[in-house]
Amino acid sequence: MGRFVEGEDRRQSFLLPETLDDYVTEDNPVRVVEVFIEELDLGAIGFEGVRPAATGRPAYHPSTLLKIYLYGYLNRIQSSRRLEREARRNIELMWLTGRLAPDFKTIANFRRDNGPAIRAACGQFIELCRRLNLFTKAIVAIDGSKFKAVNNRDKNFTLTKVAKRMEQVDASIARYLTTLDRADREESDIAEAKTRRIKDKIAGLRRQMQALKAMEQQVQDAPDKQVSLTDPDARSMATSGRGTGVVGYNVQTAVDAEHHLIVAHEVINLGHDRTQLAPMALKAQEAMGCEEVTALADRGYFNGEQVLACEGTGVLPCVPKTEWTSEGGFFSRHVFTYDAEKDHYICPAGQTLTKGIVRSDRKNDIDHYRHLTACFTCSLKPKCTPDKLKRLKRWRHEGVLEKMQARLEHRPDAMLIRRQTVEHPFGTLKSWMGSAHFLTKTLEKVRTEMSFHILAYNIKRMIRIFGVGPLLEAMRA
Ligand code: SF4
Repeated sequence: MGRFVEGEDRRQSFLLPETLDDYVTEDNPVRVVEVFIEELDLGAIGFEGVRPAATGRPAYHPSTLLKIYLYGYLNRIQSSRRLEREARRNIELMWLTGRLAPDFKTIANFRRDNGPAIRAACGQFIELCRRLNLFTKAIVAIDGSKFKAVNNRDKNFTLTKVAKRMEQVDASIARYLTTLDRADREESDIAEAKTRRIKDKIAGLRRQMQALKAMEQQVQDAPDKQVSLTDPDARSMATSGRGTGVVGYNVQTAVDAEHHLIVAHEVINLGHDRTQLAPMALKAQEAMGCEEVTALADRGYFNGEQVLACEGTGVLPCVPKTEWTSEGGFFSRHVFTYDAEKDHYICPAGQTLTKGIVRSDRKNDIDHYRHLTACFTCSLKPKCTPDKLKRLKRWRHEGVLEKMQARLEHRPDAMLIRRQTVEHPFGTLKSWMGSAHFLTKTLEKVRTEMSFHILAYNIKRMIRIFGVGPLLEAMRA
């Protein structure tokens, strides 16, 4: 075996005792976990069991269990059973916990019982980044992505899915009945056995049909016409791929454009992003502690009410509007120029369209602009409107959308920055989570699980920015 690097004999005893600390280098990320958790006031952010009970078996301090979990999420070990195993054999974890190895039930119960506190700990890390003056640019990119839940697609029911399955069962019953007819006409022992088998199958399918009918009623009664059996909060959601979808959750993140840290996140079970612009942007603004924050988001977030909700809060949303389309070959809206001072539009024929007296929509929110005479004799009318008179609609708060459009025109690279900032973290998070994504069930627990992932992501990002040594110093300062 000469000329090879050789290991030590396993029966050789060490002459000097070695300490666990010798195995953990100064630039090991596990030291960041240790310092971050030691610096937290766990009781103040809501962890249970910070003070030991006077009676009963001594419990583990929450910091031990939080360290185990955070280490696990940093190293893609999310399951409590695997963490229990690692705590017994992994030198870094032994160093972190002082060789404590709680059983998997204790580890799992800690995550189950401390959801809000774990989410607060995630917020504390952003607070630390804020103290280190990392959010000077005050630009965030907001986006959402669908993550798979524990719920299998076959255990999720919508009215369409139930109808489709009923159709399939009906077709199968019809097929078996035809076969049964044929078998009945034959007279032999084999035919008899076959008939019995087919009858059993038909009975099974009828039972299935009954169950589907009961499920149809359940889906009808559900507020959002959807039922998931394994994880009741998971919802069927369409994804960007054509004809594809997942049963899962919509994870919203706001990522800072300078250092790509996830400053705010939320897990929801709605399949769209339309109502998330203001909540996410305001959350990010609070986390970053900036008076004014520019929030970049894609078209999926475009919603007048949401943009209006940001008005006056210091959040400056930049969301592109859906393309102006010229419907049926008629003039599109952008060829009509609005004069805010005089509150009228100038049409392509140079006529002034003034505001009608009454608003006709149900919410009393939409004004109409028209010219009472010019359209009747206008040569451009065939290109302008199929009606007798052109009526241009304008939302009462259209001004906020126009201001946002002006901001977007002022910042032509906004959507490029958005894409470069926010899409990468989702890819990273999904690859860490593996093909199954979430391991826990129900919205509350999934939120806690996501907080751990985000905290781990942010810690890795900070190590990348600072390096372990300088980050430790900054945390202790
Ligand atoms: S049809 Fe009416 S609104 Fe359209 S271009 Fe002619 S005058 Fe203007």
